[in-house]
Amino acid sequence: MQGGVGLLRLCALPRLLHLFRALPPAATLGFAEKADQATLDSYEKFLTAKLITQPQQTQAALPTRLGGSGLLRFRGLRAQAWLGSWLGTLPAVRALAGERLASAEVCTQGQEGWAVALREATEELAAEGVYLDHTGTVSGEEPAQPWGWADGTPALAQRQRLLSRRRAEASRTRLLTTLPPAARARLRSCGGPGAGAWLLAAPTSNATRFKDAEFRVYSRLRLRVPLGLGGPTDRCRNRRTGDPLEEEPPGVAGRECQKPLDADGFHALTCRVGGLVIRRHHAIRDVFAWIGRAAGYVSSTEVFEPAWTRARVDAQGEVEVEQARLDCRFAGPPSDPLVYGDVVVTHPEGSARLHAAADADGAAAAGAADDKHRRYPASLLPGGRLVPFSVETFGRWGAEARGWLRDAVDAVAERDPQVAAAGHWGKVAVLNAWFTRLSVALQKNNAACVLQAGRICGSADLGGESGWEEDIDDLLREAAAAAGWSDFEV
Ligand SMILES: [Zn+2]
Repeated sequence: MQGGVGLLRLCALPRLLHLFRALPPAATLGFAEKADQATLDSYEKFLTAKLITQPQQTQAALPTRLGGSGLLRFRGLRAQAWLGSWLGTLPAVRALAGERLASAEVCTQGQEGWAVALREATEELAAEGVYLDHTGTVSGEEPAQPWGWADGTPALAQRQRLLSRRRAEASRTRLLTTLPPAARARLRSCGGPGAGAWLLAAPTSNATRFKDAEFRVYSRLRLRVPLGLGGPTDRCRNRRTGDPLEEEPPGVAGRECQKPLDADGFHALTCRVGGLVIRRHHAIRDVFAWIGRAAGYVSSTEVFEPAWTRARVDAQGEVEVEQARLDCRFAGPPSDPLVYGDVVVTHPEGSARLHAAADADGAAAAGAADDKHRRYPASLLPGGRLVPFSVETFGRWGAEARGWLRDAVDAVAERDPQVAAAGHWGKVAVLNAWFTRLSVALQKNNAACVLQAGRICGSADLGGESGWEEDIDDLLREAAAAAGWSDFEV
């Protein structure tokens, strides 16, 4: 299924793009609508659920970095494709066909079909708050001097991409205004650098491969498609281990949590019974330790730091010593500061952070990072510092975690001549690979939380059947027939 979604996104959709650059928007409307419906149908088949609400469909069409699922919607990119194609080739067209054919006057007032289409495309974008100023810069505010197709202007590269990005940002802003607080917090939490890396991961190794049920759970969580939990009799089936850490007061080992489950996955993602929330934390810790080693640090986990030991008064009024055990410790050359990393996964829909997380990107991750600094103040550890590896349940990273990852990439580039030789793109590739490992670790564990709490064994328990397996069989059969293998069986 992961492979199927990847193929849909990477192959089927971009192939159609060329068509939209070559034909004016009005000519491709009908085709775009059919392509959009086919895309949606395929995606719903993967999810085994319908995207019934407008917000779900809008979010699915947003780029992953903005919290979407990266499904292109052709209706909404015809205008940028047409404009972008003209902006990129205008000087060449003028040189080939003569200045008069596509002069500024023809572009802005001519009745030729293609010129009218250029103006309609500009208006369509302006209606959504996307503009091009007289220098060709894409902007979100109406410019004093709009783009005028002036004679003698140079070719403008990548305008389709820049216009589309701006349009997607405007779409996300509008979507946020229509959503209640918890849904806003979740949408924001799904975005940012690296947050959606799991969606783009190729299933080429165990570290980046999802089982169908996992992929489906997480894809549904992202778009707030009900999980098939949350009926009046659905209770959390996580079993107590008897560990005093897992819940106050400690429960009896073997008993189930039995709190009500909800269709949005809130309880399952935060339940402290059954050990999965802790396993999620440890999985991320281990990826950071692995990254630290790749960057050449001496990397260890679960390390006590005496400088941060503190005394505090417990509920009975007695003084107790609280030791500081940090998730990761990274030591480099003596000139480098000692760095401790501490992982914290924050749920942006939890009551403590909901208000802030609904109104600003990354507020939950930032709040949790602040808490870590209060507990482990830099003033007590000269020559060392703490980096909170703060991430929100749906994938958005805190700023300091991202900063540490970028520093670690620089360290790799210093050690590895191949990465260094590839320059900027070499570093981007390493960073993307790390974000992917982290993102897959987080989401696999999220999926495990939902699957375990709901005792979901397979996709059938999520409601709906994909029929996808039969489609694969049909596809293989057709391919076999085309290749002339008469006795091929699947
Ligand atoms: Zn529970």
